[in-house]
Amino acid sequence: MVEIVLGWLVCILFSTRLGSVRGRTGDGFAAGFLLGPVGVIYAGFMPYGTVKCNHCRMWCFKDADVCHNCGRTH
Ligand SMILES: [Zn+2]
Repeated sequence: MVEIVLGWLVCILFSTRLGSVRGRTGDGFAAGFLLGPVGVIYAGFMPYGTVKCNHCRMWCFKDADVCHNCGRTH
C-alpha cells in the first residue's frame, strides 16, 4: 500500500514538472493527482499553454508575467 502511495506521489511530481515546462503547472499537477501514471503520460503530450502577446503578437507562456519577446506584460 505504501509503495502505491509513494508511486502516486512520484507521478504527481513528474506530471507537475512536465506541466511547468509547458507553462501549465496547475494542469500538470491535476493530471498527476487524478490520473497517476496515466496523468504523467497525458502531461507529457498535452499542448503548451501559450497565449498571443497584445503588443508584438508573439506567442508567450500563459503564466509568464512579461512577454519574452518585447518585455511588456501581455
Ligand atoms: Zn510581446
